Order: sequence, then C-alpha cells, then structure tokens
Amino acid sequence: MGSKTIDEEEKFRKMSSALKRGWTMLHDTCPRCGTPLFKKPSGEIICVYCNIPVKLVSSEEEAEEVRIELALRHVRANLIRYLSHLSDKLEPSENEDLDILTRMNTAAGVLLKVENMIYRRRLK
Ligand SMILES: [Zn+2]
Repeated sequence: MGSKTIDEEEKFRKMSSALKRGWTMLHDTCPRCGTPLFKKPSGEIICVYCNIPVKLVSSEEEAEEVRIELALRHVRANLIRYLSHLSDKLEPSENEDLDILTRMNTAAGVLLKVENMIYRRRLK
C-alpha cells in the first residue's frame, strides 16, 4: 500500500460525499493514506478513501489488544479456508478419505480453540 499514490480528486469527492451524508469529520487520520477519518451516525469510524473501518485506540495497550484480535480473526479465516479446501478433496470412493478426515478433525479442533479465545476476549 505504501507506494500507492493518492488520487486527490477522488479523495475530496469521497470526503465531500461523506460530509453531505452528515458524517462527522475527525481530527484523526487514516494510518494508510492520511485522509481525515469520518464517524458515521452508527458510531462506526471509517476511512472514506480506503473504504475500511478504523478502530481508534487511546493507548499502546489497547492497540496491542486490537492487533491480537485481528490476528485471531486472521487465523480463524485461514483455518476455515483450509477446512474448506480439505473438504473439497473428499471423494466417496477414495481410501485417502480417512487421512483427509483426520486432518480436518485436527484443524476443526484448533478452530474451536481459536473461536473460544475470540469469544472469551469479548467478555473481558
Ligand atoms: Zn485511508
């Protein structure tokens, strides 16, 4: 993303459209592109240029918590992709199915643990 040039025209077009919708422009800027962030009436904070939600943190500790949460979600997404990939290989007549099922079982066990970690962090 670093070398990507910012299309200033598009940036201002998107910013003015956000203002027209009544979104609040914040002092904080997007860590990726430097565009001022906007707060929607729902409370969600987004970068209108990158079209990504942004989570504002007030301390390094809080930032670390967000990084861990994102890392866990990333692991979860990879595990689900892996399980899906394995299940595509299942063939009713193949005798390698047991091997595939064993691997799926292991991955599903890890996925459950990751889900549990994500769930428990939400309760904190
Ligand atoms: Zn941005």
